[in-house]
Amino acid sequence: MKVVLENLTKTFPNRKKGLPDVTAVDNFSFEIPDGQLIGLLGPSGCGKSTTLNLICGLIQPTSGKLWFGDDDVTYLPPEVRGVGMVFQNYALYPHLTVEKNIMFPLGNLKGAEKLSKQEMKDRALEAAKLVQIENLMERKPSELSGGQQQRVAIARALVKLPRVLLLDEPLSNLDARLRLQTREEIRRIQQETKITTIFVTHDQEEAMSISDMIVVMAAGIIQQIGKPQDVYDNPVNLFVSKFLGTPPINVFEGTVKNETLYINNEKVLHVGGVEDKDVWVGIRPEGFVLKDDGALSCDLVTVEVMGRDISVVSTHPATVNASIRSIISSENHDTITGTKVRFDVKPSKVHLFDKETEERIYYK
Ligand code: ADP
Ligand code: MG
Repeated sequence: MKVVLENLTKTFPNRKKGLPDVTAVDNFSFEIPDGQLIGLLGPSGCGKSTTLNLICGLIQPTSGKLWFGDDDVTYLPPEVRGVGMVFQNYALYPHLTVEKNIMFPLGNLKGAEKLSKQEMKDRALEAAKLVQIENLMERKPSELSGGQQQRVAIARALVKLPRVLLLDEPLSNLDARLRLQTREEIRRIQQETKITTIFVTHDQEEAMSISDMIVVMAAGIIQQIGKPQDVYDNPVNLFVSKFLGTPPINVFEGTVKNETLYINNEKVLHVGGVEDKDVWVGIRPEGFVLKDDGALSCDLVTVEVMGRDISVVSTHPATVNASIRSIISSENHDTITGTKVRFDVKPSKVHLFDKETEERIYYK
């Protein structure tokens, strides 16, 4: 089911008296193609949950429209939209077994849709198999691990065969290893069922790893939409460049003069077509090349061994980060000696941003 947001806006009265309204979702327009998994990504408070709640119908927009395929669902009540929703805190019924928890939404079906007890049991088993908890059907939620509880919640969201599946930070309560495993599970389930899915997270790695497309948000405003790799390689502004990537992008103060980029008077790169001005310079950790006479001269702090790669930690007077991290092939480990390291940079990994607007400045 294709989902279309058309100038969707939601404002709330400010929780603090006397302050202006909060625009939690500001004029969102985008289309989620049928059968895709979309990652809604942004820091806490940027409007991710509000967007999901608008899509599932728990809240109504201040203005704009929402479409599921050709159906205008903007003001449709949640129960007739055909959405399944999973929250961060699994929200299971503690006194019901796993099977009864999963079956619960089916009990509300009426008229022609009404199911017999056996049909409900069959459907619950099918959903349980999808998330691989069919052997836990008789347990109560308190007898399950966090990961298992979240699978029950996912099975419950799937049991009505929703047109759209919405997941609001579903992995945040799980420990690191389970988080990794469960996100792979979600991807597998999504690909098996082909249900259009919207996955909300503040964790860029999580969103990048499983999404067909990511929507990066900040303060209620869409910053960029695209395939994870494209957004990483081509951020439209400083915020997006900083939000994606671990270790994060290294940001320096720089100056462009005669189409040449200087960082602290060091001549770093030819930047064709850029007028003379001060800029923010973002350099990805993998954008540095160790070189004895490299353009950028940094003070070495430490070298962290990561196996295949090493992470060189250094400082530089023009960086706004506490330190610079460069990821270098471990074959080069031996060449690092003394207290200085010098780097050249890979042009495709260096992004310039306007000092005031923080918008990307493109160069040739
Ligand atoms: P996220 O899920 O990205 O952390 P939310 O969508 O929950 O962000 O919130 C976005 C903004 O809207 C925040 O500033 C939040 O305080 C505000 N907000 C959310 N719900 C309400 C509400 N019911 N009343 C007032 N303000 C709200
Ligand atoms: Mg939220």
